[in-house]
Amino acid sequence: MTVITRFAPSPTGFLHIGGARTALFNWLFARHHGGRFLLRIEDTDRQRSTTEAIDAILDGLRWLGLEWDGEPVFQSARAARHAEVAHQLLAEGKAYYCYCTQEELQAMRDEARAAGRPVRYDGRWRDRDPSEAPTDVPPVVRVKAPQVGETVIEDLVQGEVRIANEQLDDMVLLRADGTPTYMLSVVVDDHDMGITHVIRGDDHLTNAFRQLQLYNAMDWTAPIFAHIPLIHGPDGAKLSKRHGALGVEAYRDMGYLPEALRNYLLRLGWAHGDEEIIDTEQAIAWFDLDGVGRSPSRFDFAKLGNLNGHYLRAADDARLVDLVLPRLERRLDGMPDAAARTRLFLGMPGLKARAKTLEELADNAVFYARSRPLPMSEKALDLLTPEARARLDRLAALLAEVEDWTEAAVEEKIRQLVDAEGVKLGQVAQPLRAALTGSTTSPGLFEVMAVLGRDETLARLGDARRVGEARTVN
Ligand code: GLU
Repeated sequence: MTVITRFAPSPTGFLHIGGARTALFNWLFARHHGGRFLLRIEDTDRQRSTTEAIDAILDGLRWLGLEWDGEPVFQSARAARHAEVAHQLLAEGKAYYCYCTQEELQAMRDEARAAGRPVRYDGRWRDRDPSEAPTDVPPVVRVKAPQVGETVIEDLVQGEVRIANEQLDDMVLLRADGTPTYMLSVVVDDHDMGITHVIRGDDHLTNAFRQLQLYNAMDWTAPIFAHIPLIHGPDGAKLSKRHGALGVEAYRDMGYLPEALRNYLLRLGWAHGDEEIIDTEQAIAWFDLDGVGRSPSRFDFAKLGNLNGHYLRAADDARLVDLVLPRLERRLDGMPDAAARTRLFLGMPGLKARAKTLEELADNAVFYARSRPLPMSEKALDLLTPEARARLDRLAALLAEVEDWTEAAVEEKIRQLVDAEGVKLGQVAQPLRAALTGSTTSPGLFEVMAVLGRDETLARLGDARRVGEARTVN
């Protein structure tokens, strides 16, 4: 059997983090089994389904690297097929027209509530002679659901789950205007798409019973169900925006890498021993539904940050330059020039070792990307005292002698100055950092100097002296 899974989002909002995890699990399961992963856009709610939302979902999946096989299926385009199935059930006596008016249904609900019974359609048109049908009420089509016995699902995550059939009523398949209901559409689409495994959030578990009854009515083989527990916030409450219930594009904007988010989402509800860092290739090799836990997982930003730091360190430097450039453009109000890009590339090993997100990386990288003269923070300016500037002048003279500009060579010159003047390293290093970066924090100074190169280093030292002087005079 070829495994065929699907992701079936309703495009009423962005691809949120829970949906992304569902998509990932379906994608991994299909890839693990050498099967197919299909995409179905459940856009039957025409009012609420927008093209922006559809695009955001497709973009989000692409960004996450969860490519689907074949063309997406649009559920709204298949309404005629859904209706055809309802009519087949009617013809086979497995569905019937129900002519209840809204008032009758309301009365049924009121009565049930007053008697403390669950609200269920009482089946009053199930066996009634159609000759009694009123002519002024457009009927709905209802399925003849089994009234005795049980419906049992062998769920790959939840285990065996069962419900007494008397608890389910005869649900509507076609509305009075002839449009199919969601429950009918899902079953017909999953069947026609040849879906073998339905992996989705456990908020759909109760739907699965009704869906299984429809498969049975049609004599279709039902897919295997796997209902995964929802994602909760760190405090165990339902995931809210504050907790991270955002669209995947928000994670992209915050500076997470798709491979880090994939790894993180995988671990939200799935485990392979104690492994935390699982790259996608490894995930494909290991993924199975036995590894899905039965209790809700908790979203944890700190964990995501740590994973992202790991994937940043592992990422290719040129790729990170590309990813960080638009973020720098926003900070600098312009694209860094070619020389700045070279500095970014050379500085990337040091930068990526210290950042948890691309945003943080961009903040730390700004001083490489700026063209001279650098703006200085107040704290940096404070360090450029007349004494410190005089010392930087003497350092500049020593550095000018360096021919082979390496970390080791610049370090040697700095140590030489420290020894000659009998000062502490910090007394040179702090104003030097201020001069070269405009701030009081940066990657290691020798590394920074090696990346900047001789000319840029000496030029920035000269700039700093002028800025410092101007400030002292004021
Ligand atoms: N369209 C449904 C949703 O977005 C999913 C339906 C399903 O997976 O069966 O929640």
